Order: sequence, then structure tokens, then C-alpha cells
Amino acid sequence: RSSGLLSGPNLENSAVFDAKNLRVKLVLLGDSGVGKSCIVLRFVRGQFDPTSKVTVGASFLSQTIALQDSTTVKFEIWDTAGQERYAALAPLYYRGAAASVIVYDITSIESFHKAQYWVKELQKHGNPGIVMALVGNKADLQENRTVSAGDASEYADKNGMFFIETSAKTADNINQLFEASTLNGLTELLQRDA
Ligand code: GDP
Repeated sequence: RSSGLLSGPNLENSAVFDAKNLRVKLVLLGDSGVGKSCIVLRFVRGQFDPTSKVTVGASFLSQTIALQDSTTVKFEIWDTAGQERYAALAPLYYRGAAASVIVYDITSIESFHKAQYWVKELQKHGNPGIVMALVGNKADLQENRTVSAGDASEYADKNGMFFIETSAKTADNINQLFEASTLNGLTELLQRDA
């Protein structure tokens, strides 16, 4: 078990493979206001509720999905809960994470630059082999777009990341984000570890 990500029952070891059930710690990163909480709410509860904050402190929401071959994946989704400012705490936050979702807002170039900062952080301090997905959220606001999908996709390719644009408001690509991005990478991780 070389990566250390796939063993043990506790949260330190984030992905547990027991026959057909996988448990994955997934961390959300990105500027405040890009829609992280709304993405989680949409995925877990099927709702869009801009007024509700999902998490406080070190708690998380979880959601289990079933794959075609009857494997189930339980995501333990950690939201920063508005603590984006405390960069020094970040390594504690993403320790043990097998997957990460780095979110920006397609109408905010600053948030895209901030996303690149988080990618570098994860490359430096995250688990080796951590699966990273770059997510351009608020894709329903096309008329206010300032980050082109082409630029983001090119950046993601260069950094070995999956890229997708989502809308927590309309639900576009939210399930696809959790099914495709993380799982492709995690499947590779499992095969490498086996
Ligand atoms: P967080 O700070 O990254 O967790 O961001 P929130 O989830 O709290 O969302 C910040 C604001 O963006 C809220 O006012 C949401 O209504 C809005 N928002 C989130 N996702 C979307 C989206 O996909 N489309 C649009 N138009 N607004 C969104």
C-alpha cells in the first residue's frame, strides 16, 4: 500500500477499499463566493439554496454513489466553511484527502488565479497522487464570463487535472463532476495500489 491513501478505518486514511465499498475524503478549495457550498448542497441534497452554509469547523457532509459494477463510493466532502483566509491551516485540512475539487467562478478571473494558487499548494503539500479536479462554476452566467473554457482546460491539461464547468444553480454537470473526475483518478489509484 504505497500511497497510504487506501488503508485503515479512520479519517487519516481517507479511502478505504473493502471489496466493493470505497470511502473517499474529498476537499473543496477555492475563493470565498465561488459556490463551493452550493455545489455540495446540490450534489448531496439536490437543492440550490444560496442562503445556507453547509459546514462549520471540521464537519463534513457525505454522499454515497453507486457505480455500474456495483461498487459504491462514499464521499466525505470537506468544505472550507469560509476559512479560505487561514492558508496556514490548509495542510491539516487536506491531509489524508484522496481527491480535491478546486473551484473558481467563470465570471471572476481573480478566482481563477486563486484556483491556480491552490493547485500549487496541493502539488507541494497534498498527498502524492491526489486526484485534482478543476471546476469552473456559475456556468449559467455566460454573459458575464471572464475566464474562457479553453484557457482553463489548457491549464488543467498541463497540470494533469480533470476539468469541468458546472452550475450549482441549474445542476448542470454536478453529478458528472463527482462521477467522472474523481472516480477516473481514484480507479487508477486503486489499481496502482493493488
Ligand atoms: P462558497 O463561499 O464558495 O461556499 O460560495 P457559496 O456556495 O456560498 O455561493 C456564493 C454565492 O454564489 C451565493 O450567493 C450563491 O447563490 C451563488 N452561486 C453559487 N453557485 C452558483 C451558480 O452555479 N450559479 C449562480 N448564478 N450563482 C451561484
